[in-house]
Amino acid sequence: MDVYTPQERSRVMAAVPSADTGPELRVRRLLHRLGYRFRLHRRDLPGRPDIVLPKWRTVLFVHGCFWHQHAGCPRAARPTSNVAFWDRKLDRNVRRDQENRRSLEEAGWRVLVIWECQADEATAERTLREFFDRWGEPGASATGAAASGR
Ligand code: ZN
Repeated sequence: MDVYTPQERSRVMAAVPSADTGPELRVRRLLHRLGYRFRLHRRDLPGRPDIVLPKWRTVLFVHGCFWHQHAGCPRAARPTSNVAFWDRKLDRNVRRDQENRRSLEEAGWRVLVIWECQADEATAERTLREFFDRWGEPGASATGAAASGR
């Protein structure tokens, strides 16, 4: 049961390639289990991040390896037909991601990308723990984490 015509569907998929996909749901469940509070798809932020953790001043993207061109990843291999079309499209995605990251960082956000191929529960949990360990445990205030880091 698809509410979209194929044409609309492809437009929607192009606009929000990672919305509500399996890997993103998995990361959301994981964050919830680890005790992180988050918001979804803040439209007012560059790149409309998949997950926003306001308390940690962090935005999290769950990126598809192909659409966002995960460097060195087999899933990011470019199609061998329509090469010019795909190069143009994928290069544009990569450029847009870079611009969004720069805008977010300039606005004081930290940006974490979880790649689709690393979004299995164990790997994603390790990535999140390593990222947030620098800030202390959830529940600790930023100042508390800074104080305990002395
Ligand atoms: Zn990948």
